Amino acid sequence: MIQQSRLPAPTSHTMDNALSGKIALVTGAGSGIGRASALLFAAQGASVAAVDIHRTGGEETVRKITEAGGRAIFIEADVSHSGPVEQAVHQTIEAFGRLDVLFCVVGASGRRWGDGPVADCTEEAWDRVMQVNLKSVFLCCKFAIPAMKRQGGGAIVTLSSVLALVGGDEDFATHAYAASKGGIVSLTRAIASYYAPYRIRANVICPGLIATPMSQRAQSSPAITGRLTTLHPLTGAFGAPEDVARAALYLASDASSFVTGTVLTVDGGWTVR
Ligand code: NAD
Repeated sequence: MIQQSRLPAPTSHTMDNALSGKIALVTGAGSGIGRASALLFAAQGASVAAVDIHRTGGEETVRKITEAGGRAIFIEADVSHSGPVEQAVHQTIEAFGRLDVLFCVVGASGRRWGDGPVADCTEEAWDRVMQVNLKSVFLCCKFAIPAMKRQGGGAIVTLSSVLALVGGDEDFATHAYAASKGGIVSLTRAIASYYAPYRIRANVICPGLIATPMSQRAQSSPAITGRLTTLHPLTGAFGAPEDVARAALYLASDASSFVTGTVLTVDGGWTVR
């Protein structure tokens, strides 16, 4: 019997000041993975535009960054609509002069709207999940890429899910969510291919279960927590938002300057089984 234990969190990593002088726009920066990434990017030298639909969470992220000596602004925006996204990109460039890194984190579960196995999924859930998860990425890239082209390059990181790559069983059967995350993989790779000559890189992260407010249902489900040693054989535990943030840091920084179109799983071994 193999003993499962949570690996100790790394106390340091080799990338110091990896985003020094860079300007990063992070969506969904008011909570979970987006907040952890905004904090790490700022600690690594980036000036951060923290975008979120919820003011309280977004302002808290900015407060944490500035208290730690970093530079950040909060931009309140619903990134599933074009006007606010165009304005957020504009405000970022107005505040910091350019845009080097776009990390599209925003996403939502559609269970409250009736997401489920395709035969049971409501049309409302399908439309709303596509709008929040996939259209938001389209819009952010649509408005960020012209600025990156003008500057001679940039790094786009998007956030998908293991459920884009493998089918979910009864515990994870939300097919609008899976399709939206699959669309993010396809869109990111299409962007990577087309915009490579402009030195714009685009890479996508597929996390397993991460302990954030969004995964509350999974965290409190004995059916799911009882399967963690199978789902995440590497640790037998939920991942931390910082696990994803460190992967995003690599893809956002010049350490990955020859890397584009990659689909990086951060999933404790879920998809390798
Ligand atoms: P979270 O709920 O902690 O954070 C999401 C943030 O996005 C919140 O601050 C929320 O206010 C913001 N937001 C939601 N809709 C928005 C909109 N339309 N415009 C602007 N901001 C909006 O969630 P999280 O777990 O950090 O999830 C972030 C991303 O990670 C999502 O795309 C999710 O699908 C993906 N993901 C999460 C997990 C997990 O287990 N937590 C696993 C795989 C993928």
